[in-house]
Amino acid sequence: MAVKEIKAKSVLRKHKRIDSWFLSQYGMNFYRGCSHNCIYCDGRSEGYYVEGEFGEDVWVKVNAIELLRKELDPRRKRIPLKKCFIMLGGGVGDSYQPVEKKYKLSRRALQLLYNFKLPVSILTKSTLIERDIDIIKKINERNRAIVSFSFSSVDDNISSIFEPGVPSPRERLKTLRLFKDEGISCGMFLMPVIPFLTDTPRIMDETIRKAKELDLNFIIFAGMTLKDGRQKEYFLDILKKNYPHLIPEYSNIYKKDIWGSPTGDYYKSIHTTFDMISKKYQIPRRIPSKLFNDILSENDLVTVILEQLEYLLKLQGKESSYRWAANSISKLTDPLSSMKKDLRRINGVGPTTERIILEILETGTSSYYEKLLTG
Ligand code: SF4
Repeated sequence: MAVKEIKAKSVLRKHKRIDSWFLSQYGMNFYRGCSHNCIYCDGRSEGYYVEGEFGEDVWVKVNAIELLRKELDPRRKRIPLKKCFIMLGGGVGDSYQPVEKKYKLSRRALQLLYNFKLPVSILTKSTLIERDIDIIKKINERNRAIVSFSFSSVDDNISSIFEPGVPSPRERLKTLRLFKDEGISCGMFLMPVIPFLTDTPRIMDETIRKAKELDLNFIIFAGMTLKDGRQKEYFLDILKKNYPHLIPEYSNIYKKDIWGSPTGDYYKSIHTTFDMISKKYQIPRRIPSKLFNDILSENDLVTVILEQLEYLLKLQGKESSYRWAANSISKLTDPLSSMKKDLRRINGVGPTTERIILEILETGTSSYYEKLLTG
């Protein structure tokens, strides 16, 4: 593995609006490239412009903490940070990949979040996060922390082929238990499921059952994309070596698509399977509102719940216009509570959505959404 130190210009990424998966509008990652080297990683695709040999070379933003201290400091900001979780993870490199042992950038960033009294949402695949349980506990007690792990399944054998640099699912589940035992909210990102290997009803059932046994607070599901070019070539090469009989199956579901998405029929079938099994185990299929309704601004809270509603209905094959309303609300500058009588003038808001918004403003959640969350 080659490690290269670089100086970044900024660290905190600000998104246009709240993200309803992570409840965050700000993300940070200190590494570019990832020695976890998951075979399906889309960080390998040309669109991310990660230089060097993906899986081998890692760029370290050595000045990240200095920058972050300035970027988080409310005294230096004309416009204060929005009230939401700060996301640690995502991007094209796991924040707890092996190089973090030496640089401790994620740990030092968490210390800053604690000092600035900010909540954090962390997504990783690495058990190295256990090292930071002390500081994560402190953040959780004061401002809240959510710890999530991603899995393609809980099958150790399949994982050893497709996630060669990552601790096994068994070890990841053990770490999740540790965090749960400390009273920290935890979730599973079941993504991506690997077609014809970890998307089968049997393996998905086993995975979701394990999540339930750990009493995880939520499980978020997604399929796998394979973009033409480096990502697809690399993946198919490993698939061919280990499961050659699956190559024609993959050709059937991965046609030409700019995002590398599988066909609609396949996409629908895995979501139907997920819907059925997650309902069986009664596990929330999005981060539940009780974990964020005291943190987000009211407009963001409504935006997130409406987007989650749209997703939950889609899982059941139903179309709705909640995302349209959410999109309009995310652009408002006035708080919704100051325009209760004019809600119907917002694009996408009809009588049902109006009722849901009023309920959220009053109670912090929607009973309809709560019902759909676990099926
Ligand atoms: S841990 Fe995440 S970023 Fe790293 S290789 Fe795996 S999928 Fe990619």
